[in-house]
Amino acid sequence: MKNLIVANWKMNPNSQKEAKEIFDAIREGSRGLDVEVIVCPPAVYLYASIFGEGVVSMGAQNVYFEDKGAFTGEISVEMLKDLKVEYIIIGHSERRKYFGETDEIINKKIKKALEAGLKVIFCVGETQEEHDAGKKNEVLEKQIKIGLDGITDLANLNVAYEPVWAIGTGNNCGVEETKESLDFIRTLIGQVRVLYGGSVKSDNSGEYIKEAGANGLLVGGASLIAEEFIKIVKSAE
Ligand code: PEP
Repeated sequence: MKNLIVANWKMNPNSQKEAKEIFDAIREGSRGLDVEVIVCPPAVYLYASIFGEGVVSMGAQNVYFEDKGAFTGEISVEMLKDLKVEYIIIGHSERRKYFGETDEIINKKIKKALEAGLKVIFCVGETQEEHDAGKKNEVLEKQIKIGLDGITDLANLNVAYEPVWAIGTGNNCGVEETKESLDFIRTLIGQVRVLYGGSVKSDNSGEYIKEAGANGLLVGGASLIAEEFIKIVKSAE
């Protein structure tokens, strides 16, 4: 299975024009490479006329677990499928922290997405406080146990280990520690693709794939700079 490199643009950029420019550059730079590349823009840019066909797949940053109805501001799995979205990031630490997403809510979202045939990038990871208290494995175990409760078909599941203290801080997790966490996650779940995310740049990306054994990377800040992101994609070949 190919390595998976995921761009999480978060709430950026501010215009369709910029989104298209970054996306076009990523698509051209990714053409012909033996890596699966996913771009997850804000939902308002999730349409094929921006993305064009092939090379890079579209991913969403969020989804709701109900089918339709009176849920102002939310987006359903069917809406995403209709736009040809393939992947959804679920459980990102920013959604947990700023939007109150619990492990139980995340579980409902993962179930809904997988039942609809969408592919999931399920984010897990400990905070600085939990890390310093030696609770990392306990936290990962709880997030995974509740997040995947009742889910048996894992074919479309990918997991991203994202230590919260490493996200957007420039303080990326060391290779040894990352390897331990990825291996621990595999002992809990079995054979799914396990990605690393947290201050990935082109000068550290290759070591996560080659030394820590990650099956891919979830990239935030660096994914908005096409040239940098393409270097990261190439390091995963
Ligand atoms: C992320 O948003 O999941 C992330 C890892 O961000 P950054 O690469 O900026 O740390």
